[in-house]
Order: sequence, then C-alpha cells, then structure tokens
Amino acid sequence: MSAHTTALVTGANKGIGYEIALGLGALGWSVGVGARDEGRRRLAVERLRAAGVDAFGVPLDVTDDASVTAAARLVEEHTGRLDVLVNNAAITGGMPQEPTRVDPATVRTVVETNVIGVIRVTNAMLPLLRRSASPRIVNMSSSVGSLTRQSGAADEAATGPVAVAYAPSKTFLNAVTLQYAREFRGTNILINAGCPGFVATDLNGFRGVRTPEQGAAIAIRLATLPDDGPTGGFFADAGEVPW
Ligand code: NAP
Repeated sequence: MSAHTTALVTGANKGIGYEIALGLGALGWSVGVGARDEGRRRLAVERLRAAGVDAFGVPLDVTDDASVTAAARLVEEHTGRLDVLVNNAAITGGMPQEPTRVDPATVRTVVETNVIGVIRVTNAMLPLLRRSASPRIVNMSSSVGSLTRQSGAADEAATGPVAVAYAPSKTFLNAVTLQYAREFRGTNILINAGCPGFVATDLNGFRGVRTPEQGAAIAIRLATLPDDGPTGGFFADAGEVPW
C-alpha cells in the first residue's frame, strides 16, 4: 500500500486500540483515532503525534447513527478514502453476568456496542473502503466467543467467566464477520476477526497477562494482509481460532 494509506481504529483512545493506532502509524499510515470521549481522544492524538504518527481525531460513538455518519464524513474530508477499518471498540457490560441473573438491558447494551456498532460503522465506511485498492476490515473479537471452546472442557483461561452478554456478543460478531466475507466474495475487500489474547486493559481491570502492544499485533497483521490473504477467518497470534 502507498504511504498515504489511511486507517480508522474505533475505540483508539486507550488499551489495545491505542496500540493498533500506534502500530499502523509506525508503518507511515495516516490513522483516524475513533473515540467518543473528547478529552481522551485529544490526549491520544497528541501522544500518537508525539510518537511520530500522522494521527487525526475522529469523534465516534459506535452506538449512535448521527455520530457514525459524521465520522464517515470527517474521514472523507480528511483523505477521500479509507483503506483499513479496525472495529476495536467494545464493552463487557460489567461482570458478573450469569444468564440466570443478568439484567436483559445489559445484554442489549453489549450487543448494541459490540455487534450492531460494528455493522453500523462498517456500512458507513464502506463507500470509502470501496475506493481503496486493498480494503481490509478487522473485527476485534475474542476467543471467549468461540463456541468450540465454550462447549469444551471448562478452562476459564480460554473461555473467561460465565458471561451471557460479552462472550455471546463476540460469537455474534464472528458470525457477522462470516456473513460480510460471504457478501464480499469476488471483491477485493478482506474481512477477518482477530483475538488479542488476555490483555491487561481497563476491560478486565488490568488482570490480563499480555501487553496492549502484544494484543495489537494480530490486528496489525490482519490490517496488512496481502491481496491474496485470507478472508472470513478468525485468527490469534498462534494461528486460526476455532469458531
Ligand atoms: P478497553 O481498554 O476497555 O478499550 C475499549 C475501547 O472501546 C475504549 O477506547 C472505549 O472508549 C471504546 N468504546 C467503548 N464503547 C464505545 C462506543 N460506544 N463508541 C466508541 N468507542 C467505544 O478494552 P481493550 O481491552 O483495549 O479491548 C479492545 C478490543 O479487544 C475489544 O473489542 C475487546 O472486546 C477485545 N478483546 C480484549 C481482550 C482483553 O483481554 N483486553 C481480550 C479479547 C478481546 P471510552 O474510553 O470512551 O470508553
């Protein structure tokens, strides 16, 4: 891709998203820092620029139609096209989340952000992505969304706690990723899901064992796939994750 390659990372003000922005910026790309909180967004853009990244702020709440439409307009005005979209923003909805005790509103909120938000942002950015020679879409998922793992031997390290909103939201996201890949067949758009591993971030009270930089690596790899790279897959650093 050219030096003018442009990426948008949602939820890029902290955690893994920030490191994805930093990693893509280190390739010489222009990186849109999608984030809803103005203060944290401005701080992230400042830090990225201080690190030499061509970063620009993109006000973005993935649950809000008007915000997402405005974000697409901003990216279009900034660069005229988009090469890579990393759908990274997500929430857990808070734990514990046992199915028998959950507030249904929690499930709705998590799905609205982690699944519908991805569809909303992807579809808003698609006209810009279609102008790219090598469009890539990366959906940050999690191995806790793997039905194979959830239905196997109980191993909380691989499956996370019993959680009826967060884990199934990633299963849903994986299924959505596959449907996009099917629709994109015959086009140059590659779309994949990635799992960063268990990373120390706000999302899990910093209990994760990997660094955000390590967690960002899979997204960077999927964002920089060659034209004959895979699509409709689910990958972690170690290789394919079972669905
Ligand atoms: P994080 O530190 O909590 O960051 C999440 C980001 O998403 C924040 O920037 C947050 O912005 C943003 N966000 C949440 N809701 C949003 C909305 N409605 N609109 C726009 N932005 C929103 O989490 P993380 O650990 O870096 O997670 C990044 C991705 O990796 C997520 O998709 C997560 O599910 C996935 N993942 C993480 C782990 C892990 O161990 N950490 C494991 C597997 C998968 P605010 O600052 O405004 O809240």
